[in-house]
Amino acid sequence: MKKVLVTGGTGLVGKALEAFIKKEGPTDEEWYFAGSKDADLTNLAATQSLFAKEKPTHVIHLAAMVGGLFHNMNNNLDFLRNNLLINDNVLQTAHEQGCTKVVSCLSTCIFPDKTTYPIDETMVHNGPPHPSNYGYSYAKRLIDIQNHAYNDKYGRLYTSVIPCNIFGPHDNYKPEVSHVIPGMINRMHKLITEQADTPESEKVFTVFGSGKPLRQFIYSLDLAELMIWVLRSYDSVEPIVLSVDEAQEVTIFEVAQAIATAFEFKGKLVCDTSKADGQYKKTASNAKLRSLLPEYTFTDFETAIKTSVEWYRSNYEQARK
Ligand code: NAP
Ligand code: GDP
Repeated sequence: MKKVLVTGGTGLVGKALEAFIKKEGPTDEEWYFAGSKDADLTNLAATQSLFAKEKPTHVIHLAAMVGGLFHNMNNNLDFLRNNLLINDNVLQTAHEQGCTKVVSCLSTCIFPDKTTYPIDETMVHNGPPHPSNYGYSYAKRLIDIQNHAYNDKYGRLYTSVIPCNIFGPHDNYKPEVSHVIPGMINRMHKLITEQADTPESEKVFTVFGSGKPLRQFIYSLDLAELMIWVLRSYDSVEPIVLSVDEAQEVTIFEVAQAIATAFEFKGKLVCDTSKADGQYKKTASNAKLRSLLPEYTFTDFETAIKTSVEWYRSNYEQARK
């Protein structure tokens, strides 16, 4: 019997993993989804107690200080320190308690800023990250270094995945923290409810920045399925990019249009260029994933946006906002 501990089990990706496991039905695995109420993973003793209690054989390590462009720009020191502490506590405790496999989460936003495209798994350490999120990026990059070091010294199979931008139900919609999709969903919902009496043609929704940056987005339920495949079947320490295809990259303005369609918002979309754009693009290649899972079909972007907007509307009271 495998016992899988998911750190960060109460967040966007953790909830998607939980939904996928529930849908799949019984297997030879027992799962435990831990949130920060179970243990503050910046604290070593609390981390050790959680592992001693749950006795995992396998770990999916998601817990992290996470946020969008503006949260990163204002808090690089906290992103660096909190994530360094969490990652070291989780990896070392997993090793000490004999976990045979750990799958940790990096991100395509930790890649070098000045680079050639598409970016792939071999390029994580090839140059400084974008200055907006260097704290988060260096902490995440060190997971890969640490995974190799546990493998060199102890033969451990501790690996990592590199997802592109993620969205879906249970996202973090807090305006000061959120990534672009939950941020826009929250703001558009607010505009629609607060201006219910304004004629549709007079309503104006603001897209932060120029709307021109490009991003690849993966639906959280797709990512969950792929991460479970990594846990069960991907036996290499080297990271693997989990992203939609390069052709599925969209502009931030197109994201706003998809969200507007899902809300049936007929007002104007206006770009506020006084706000930062962040990295222009971070186009990643999923060729390695495609070589291993050639047939995988990602959920269509517009459909996933619709489901995510519907989830927010139906779960407004409990949503993190
Ligand atoms: P999220 O929704 O913000 O969830 C973060 C999770 O981490 C929550 O379960 C939270 O617990 C937990 N956590 C935070 N600080 C903790 C602490 N000190 N001790 C214990 N648990 C703590 O984040 P997510 O979007 O699911 O991200 C999951 C992983 O994917 C992260 O490693 C992130 O870096 C990576 N990633 C995210 C994106 C994205 O676009 N969202 C893109 C690429 C990679 P509570 O909620 O219980 O406090
Ligand atoms: P990133 O992909 O790591 O840069 O982070 P985000 O998910 O925060 O995406 C940032 C991009 O979306 C930038 O180009 C922002 O200017 C743009 N953007 C537009 N509206 C919003 C919003 O409401 N929230 C956030 N976080 N970004 C927005």
